[in-house]
Amino acid sequence: MKKVLVTGGSGLVGKALEAIIKEQAPSDEQWYFAGSKDADLTNLAATQTLFQREQPTHVIHLAAMVGGLFHNMNNNLDFLRNNLLINDHVLQTAHEQGCVKVVSCLSTCIFPDKTSYPIDETMVHNGPPHPSNYGYSYAKRLIDVQNHAYHDKYGRQYTSVIPCNIFGPHDNYKPEVSHVIPGMINRMHKLINEEPELPESEKVFTVFGSGKPLRQFIYSLDLAELMIWVLRNYESVEPIILSVDEAQEVTIYEVAEAIAKAFNFKGKLVCDTSKADGQFKKTASNAKLRSLLPNYTFTDFEKAIKTSVDWYKDNYDQARK
Ligand code: NAP
Ligand code: GDP
Repeated sequence: MKKVLVTGGSGLVGKALEAIIKEQAPSDEQWYFAGSKDADLTNLAATQTLFQREQPTHVIHLAAMVGGLFHNMNNNLDFLRNNLLINDHVLQTAHEQGCVKVVSCLSTCIFPDKTSYPIDETMVHNGPPHPSNYGYSYAKRLIDVQNHAYHDKYGRQYTSVIPCNIFGPHDNYKPEVSHVIPGMINRMHKLINEEPELPESEKVFTVFGSGKPLRQFIYSLDLAELMIWVLRNYESVEPIILSVDEAQEVTIYEVAEAIAKAFNFKGKLVCDTSKADGQFKKTASNAKLRSLLPNYTFTDFEKAIKTSVDWYKDNYDQARK
């Protein structure tokens, strides 16, 4: 019997994993989804108590201080310290308690800023990250270093996945924290619902920055399926990029258009170039994933955006906003 502990189980990816696992319900696996109410993982004793209580054999480690461009720019020290603490506590406690596998989450935004494209798994440590999110990036990069060190010293199979930008139901919509998709969903919903006397065609939605940066976006339910596959089938300490194809990269302006279409928003979209663009692109290759899982079909972007917008409208009261 496998006992899988998911840290960060109450977040965007954790909720997607829970939804997939509920459907699959394998008889030889038990899953526990822990949020910060179960344990503050910046606290070592609380981390140890959680592991002692749940007795996991396997861990999917999602818990992290997470946020979009603007949250990172203002809080690099907190991103660095909180994530260093959480990651060290989870990995060392998993090791001490004999967990056979840990799958942790890196991100394509931790790759070097100055690089060749497409980026691949061998390039994580090749140069400084973008200055906007160096705290988060260095803390995440050290997970890979630590995984190798547990392997060298103890033969542990602790590994990591590198997702591109993620979106879906249960995202974090708080304006000061959010990534671009939940941030835009929250702002467009507000714009549509405020000043009902103003015709919608006269309303103006602001895209922060130039709208030109490029991003690859993976739907959280797709990522959850792929992470479960990694947990069960991927036997290497080396990280693996979990991303849509390079051809599926979109501009930030196209993201705004897709969200507007999902809301059936009739107003105008304008770019505010006084706001930061962040990294221009971080195009990642999913060739390693494709070599192992050639037939995986990602959910269509516009369809997944529509589902995510509808989820937000239907669950407005309970959404993190
Ligand atoms: P999220 O929705 O913000 O969820 C974060 C999770 O971490 C929540 O369950 C939260 O618990 C938990 N957490 C935060 N601080 C904690 C602490 N001190 N102790 C215990 N738990 C804590 O984030 P997500 O988007 O699902 O991200 C999951 C993973 O994917 C992260 O490792 C992130 O770095 C990575 N990632 C995310 C993206 C993206 O676009 N979102 C892209 C690439 C990689 P509570 O909510 O209960 O407080
Ligand atoms: P990143 O992919 O790590 O840079 O983080 P984000 O998900 O925050 O995406 C940032 C990009 O989206 C930048 O080019 C921003 O200028 C742009 N953007 C446009 N509107 C928004 C918004 O409402 N929130 C956020 N976070 N970014 C936005």
